[in-house]
Amino acid sequence: MTPYKDLSREELLKEKENLEQQFAEIKAKGLKLDMSRGKPSTAQLNLSMGMMDVLDSNADLVCEEGVDCRNYGVLDGIKEAKELLADMTEVSPDNIIIYGNSSLNVMYDTVARSMTHGVMGSTPWCKLDKVKFLCPVPGYDRHFKITEHFGIEMINIPMHEDGPDMDMVEEYVNNDPAVKGIWCVPKYSNPQGITYSDETVRRFARLKPAAEDFRIYWDNAYGIHHLYEDKQDNLVEILMECKKEGNPDMVYKFCSTSKVSFPGSGVAAIGTSKANIADIKKQMTIQTIGHDKLNQLRHVRFFKDIHGMVLHMRKHADILRPKFEAVLSGLKNELGGLEIGSWLEPRGGYFISFDSLPGCAKAIVAKAKEAGVVMTDAGATFPYGKDPQDSNIRIAPSYPTPEELKTATEIFVLSVKLVSIDKILE
Ligand code: PLP
Repeated sequence: MTPYKDLSREELLKEKENLEQQFAEIKAKGLKLDMSRGKPSTAQLNLSMGMMDVLDSNADLVCEEGVDCRNYGVLDGIKEAKELLADMTEVSPDNIIIYGNSSLNVMYDTVARSMTHGVMGSTPWCKLDKVKFLCPVPGYDRHFKITEHFGIEMINIPMHEDGPDMDMVEEYVNNDPAVKGIWCVPKYSNPQGITYSDETVRRFARLKPAAEDFRIYWDNAYGIHHLYEDKQDNLVEILMECKKEGNPDMVYKFCSTSKVSFPGSGVAAIGTSKANIADIKKQMTIQTIGHDKLNQLRHVRFFKDIHGMVLHMRKHADILRPKFEAVLSGLKNELGGLEIGSWLEPRGGYFISFDSLPGCAKAIVAKAKEAGVVMTDAGATFPYGKDPQDSNIRIAPSYPTPEELKTATEIFVLSVKLVSIDKILE
């Protein structure tokens, strides 16, 4: 295909006329398709329905350590749940706290506690003139909303194919004591599906933060969410790397079973050093008497162990793979060679990230909406909702069926072509 930029004005106008006709036809169908949020489909939720049967009224609800899970007690999670989530997040059960149903909630709490009470005895952030967070972009909108909510200044760090720009990260973290944290989705990142390289993780572990209370917010939300059996990304385990480099307390690892079992009804955890755990527990004992142990028990009895979880994730992959492929083949067949957009082919996670020509993303999302396709708002993948290039669009293929995705992708590529032609003709 000839790149659009090499076509003459007349050729572009002719192409536009053609595309407008196709767009009008598809718009007339009055479709309603949603590629906006990364929610598992009903078929995926059905995979975990067995969990509803493992705890019936005859079940023994006493956990391994002899506690009746129907009653109060056990602040940081039952032993067997710690073991399961420790395996999931590749740390020792001694380095785990089990929380409630949402890792985002744990991240919010972690920032809130640092604001009001500080980290391990350091000055609470609310008493400082300035607190800054580094934000690899594009990234997860809800991370950015948390730091925005607390008035923390966010600094964009460009993502490369091997992770965030580490030269910039080192420059900021090692020199500016106001930099207290960085948001990371290190594996199958949201939205690009990038996994940080070994060297990137090692550079993180070797940071020499100017702030003693600097922490890496390592949100491994997609750690076991592979799409393929034969093509899987590997991530170096950061807690051990940090320990080796003399920075044992520098990282908080967050995870949950939201996209393993049920979003909103899963189990979340933090994996971190024993010193951080002691610091966190001081607040936790005030905040709660304990989280939902019956849900922890239900998860352990259903999955049994990490092997059970891995087998379960293969079933998710079988449902998700054709959906990703429907979108990716639509992009490749229709946009390949036109030089009006770029994207990566993720091997796991929940998203595909599309970069349009600069200044086109908002218009593309609006155009697709005209024909009934809802996408994540352009800009959402950046702090303050502001994409300086106006080019990134997050595509979430998990919820619609492969057939719906095929049609939604048709509408999306038509929108990309039409908006790009207008841009080139400007
Ligand atoms: N972290 C990332 C990177 C996500 O993409 C999501 C959900 O989309 C979450 C966290 C939310 O996790 P939870 O359901 O455990 O709060």
